[in-house]
Amino acid sequence: MKRALYDGLGRLLYPLGLAAPAMGSKAAVAVFHRIDDRYPGNPITAGRAEFRAYCEFFARYFDVITVTELLDRMAQGRPIGGTLAITFDDGYLDNHAVAAEELDRLGLPACFFICTGFIGSNRSAPWDEKAGIRSEWMQWDDVRDLARRGFEIGAHTVTHPDLGVIGPAEAEREVADSRARLEAEIGRPVDLFCYPFGGPAQLSEPNREVIRRLGMRCCFSCYGGTIHAGDDPLRLERAPISPWHRTPHQYGFELLASIVRGRVAYG
Ligand SMILES: [Zn+2]
Repeated sequence: MKRALYDGLGRLLYPLGLAAPAMGSKAAVAVFHRIDDRYPGNPITAGRAEFRAYCEFFARYFDVITVTELLDRMAQGRPIGGTLAITFDDGYLDNHAVAAEELDRLGLPACFFICTGFIGSNRSAPWDEKAGIRSEWMQWDDVRDLARRGFEIGAHTVTHPDLGVIGPAEAEREVADSRARLEAEIGRPVDLFCYPFGGPAQLSEPNREVIRRLGMRCCFSCYGGTIHAGDDPLRLERAPISPWHRTPHQYGFELLASIVRGRVAYG
């Protein structure tokens, strides 16, 4: 019921051009994980047509920019209002096989945050195991191909640990090793980071300091709402897309509502 209302409000506000003034000076960063038609209803999976609809929605109503461009604008005090960056976490096979093609079709940039220990492996992620899904990861060739095609590649640790729990020495290895591996594989510097699980309690302050000390340019959560010009780049929120969002217009409305509520609703 609520979802239908929010969808309706999104369908009203966006085509009328009222969303941009409501976004004001704020930016948004969307999070996807897996794009796959086989697992409808899985909390981290969107179908291909659904993903395409999001891309078309973003292209129509937002200024879609890279994460680096967003950070540059913030660092230089240039406006970020109405911009949106598209991100992916973990390194699922379909990011290369499906998502990149859809993004290219519309010429949209995106950043892929890679958990390096998953790439080229048959490791099953605990959350997939629980859902009865076999995790399928990209190969290093796929990651290199994404980089070659101009997509951004960011670090997301080696083994996907909870950085709210492990100590700073282990956190440093996880972050530094994942970055070093990515840099060696794609042959260019990697300074973008988002932390595993992404919840409010899943990054301790000492470990945030580790990320700062290693010189990462940003640290994204996987919860929250919009981004304000003066936000600390190491405390940037993202708004994940979940099955709770029935349509891009509903998600779009949730983004606007999060300006008031503080964060996007997922269920
Ligand atoms: Zn992750």
